Amino acid sequence: MLRIIEFAHKVIKDKISKNDICVDMTVGNGNDTLFLTKNCKFVYGFDIQNQAIENTTKLLKENNVNNYQLFLSSHENVNTLIKEKVKAFIFNLGYLPSGDKTITTHYESTIKAINNSLEIVIVVYPGHESGKIEDIKLSEYVSLLPQKLYDVVSYRFINQINNPPYVIVIERK
Ligand code: SAM
Repeated sequence: MLRIIEFAHKVIKDKISKNDICVDMTVGNGNDTLFLTKNCKFVYGFDIQNQAIENTTKLLKENNVNNYQLFLSSHENVNTLIKEKVKAFIFNLGYLPSGDKTITTHYESTIKAINNSLEIVIVVYPGHESGKIEDIKLSEYVSLLPQKLYDVVSYRFINQINNPPYVIVIERK
């Protein structure tokens, strides 16, 4: 059985090729960014925290990666900052692991960013307070996307306790 992040990465890997551009909407410690750089042509990344941009830059440098550009900016600005055609977006929501847990993603800007970019994989963490709200609002939002235009699926372990993370995949038809 694929773990949550493994599943999120597999969905993206199956969708992209070495000619594609991808975006990591929440770079954090850079693990998803590194994964994307290895599987597509170029990766853009967003985070609102200096610490995240520094951690990600360090990880990418250590791995001799240079096909990326990071923005210290909220992901809701994606359309202003990126004009090229993007194949896949990943959101790994919540707070920076080992960082300030009060700085988290919020459903308002997450939904705005989703609105700007519909071909995406989202890892949702309902286990903390603002994650629970994000979970409810996002579920509401994605379940109302018109089925003629989008496929929306979710992957979750339904027998785990304490609100485990889960994945939402949105695919434009
Ligand atoms: N993808 C990361 C990795 O592989 O290590 C983990 C991401 S971490 C769970 C969530 C990140 O989202 C935090 O670093 C946080 O600063 C960032 N974040 C919060 N709000 C944001 C926003 N509006 N735009 C971009 N990033 C945001």
